[in-house]
Amino acid sequence: MFRKILIANRSEIALRVIRAAKELGISTVAIYSTEDKNSMHVELADEAICVGPALAAESYLNLSNVAQAIANSGCDAVHPGYGFLSENPTFVNICKDLGVTFIGPDDKTMSNLADKAKVKSILNKFDIPTVPGSDGSIEDIDTLKKTAADIGYPVLLKASWGGGGKGMRIVRNEEDLVREFNAAKMEAKVSFGKDDIYLEKFIEHPRHIEVQVLGDLYGNVVHIGERDCTLQRRHQKLLEESPSGVLSEEKRRKLHETAVLATKALGYQNAGTLEFLFDGENFYFIEINTRIQVEHPVSEMAYGVDLIKEQIAIASKEQLSLKQEDIKLKFHTMECRINAEDPDRFYPSPGMINKLFIPGGPGVRVDSAVYCGMNVSPSYDSLIAKLIVKGSDREEARLRMLRCLNEFVIEGVKTSIPFFQRILTTKDFVSNTYDTNFIDKKFLNKS
Ligand code: ADP
Repeated sequence: MFRKILIANRSEIALRVIRAAKELGISTVAIYSTEDKNSMHVELADEAICVGPALAAESYLNLSNVAQAIANSGCDAVHPGYGFLSENPTFVNICKDLGVTFIGPDDKTMSNLADKAKVKSILNKFDIPTVPGSDGSIEDIDTLKKTAADIGYPVLLKASWGGGGKGMRIVRNEEDLVREFNAAKMEAKVSFGKDDIYLEKFIEHPRHIEVQVLGDLYGNVVHIGERDCTLQRRHQKLLEESPSGVLSEEKRRKLHETAVLATKALGYQNAGTLEFLFDGENFYFIEINTRIQVEHPVSEMAYGVDLIKEQIAIASKEQLSLKQEDIKLKFHTMECRINAEDPDRFYPSPGMINKLFIPGGPGVRVDSAVYCGMNVSPSYDSLIAKLIVKGSDREEARLRMLRCLNEFVIEGVKTSIPFFQRILTTKDFVSNTYDTNFIDKKFLNKS
């Protein structure tokens, strides 16, 4: 087991890792920007090292400063959290060169799996169902036209190296195809540094359902059930729950088996998430995320596992202690991502928190690094708290979530709490009959 872990992140996920490490008797090192010097992750870590100014590119994403902090700290492992350097194979390599363990997959696996088009091609060879589309990235216009005609319109153009729901373009007819393809290429180059594009059938009314997996260094893989992340705004998740309420037992079992098979086919180790779209009948793989996800607590609460401790154990070369038959669904769980933003316009709302009350009671977990008097910086992501609840079924979880949203007091900044209060009482949410377009199309009345 490790002696000292440096957490290359900030805010709630840094706290989450610090807490897991402390419970394992491992000492912790925080890194922080000057903007974050009064943050809770700095306060709660055993040591803290400043890595630069507010701008993430100059601090949390600054490879040489973070590398220097790792070297100076005397740590023997690094946890990247999510975002920032968590999916950067160069960073994994830097850790290797410094002789410290990166808590996650190795650099080769990470870079192979970052090419979303390539991953789909690999999985097709193993008969894993993926969204119909191009075989890898599209090299020329003839292939583009032929693939789109073969799978049928509407189609979706996606950046092979993309993420964060960015840079996707729906094409509804052939006349628009080449123009949209060229525009998508330009956008991908600017956003992701590479302009490779692939094509997929656009599924009109999907549910987003993903499977949490854990793989050790010895080829053992288990799944920790699925999460339903269908409630999205512009392809970004807002609320997640586990289990999904729209799968039959047979489909659920098949999905889990498929995810484990895919994980083994990809030779993946550590914690990962395989994302699928479900059209009511069939599910199709879209991508694998090679890190811990924002929404991991819903799986932790539903199944009673600690995914961060598992990540640490796997990275320290332990065999998976969890056996599939012992991983049992215990509760229905739900998470709301509470952002510091205007709930009507979704604009960030930075500022000083001057009144705070955090909900509690049975079945409630809040992952957050906020405190009264804290300044919510405009320099970083607007996520300020994850409110997670569990219930014996979906309805109990929903009512508990509403109770907690009503209790939650955050003053000084606007938050997405009123948004969730409205959504959780809609007919579509209560009956669980919505799809990924619900918020964009129906609720916000946008096409
Ligand atoms: P990213 O990595 O940018 O988050 P994903 O491939 O994970 O992109 O997709 C994010 C979301 O975009 C999905 O949850 C879904 O809402 C939508 N999406 C992606 N692919 C398709 C598709 N082929 N058809 C319909 N919606 C899609």
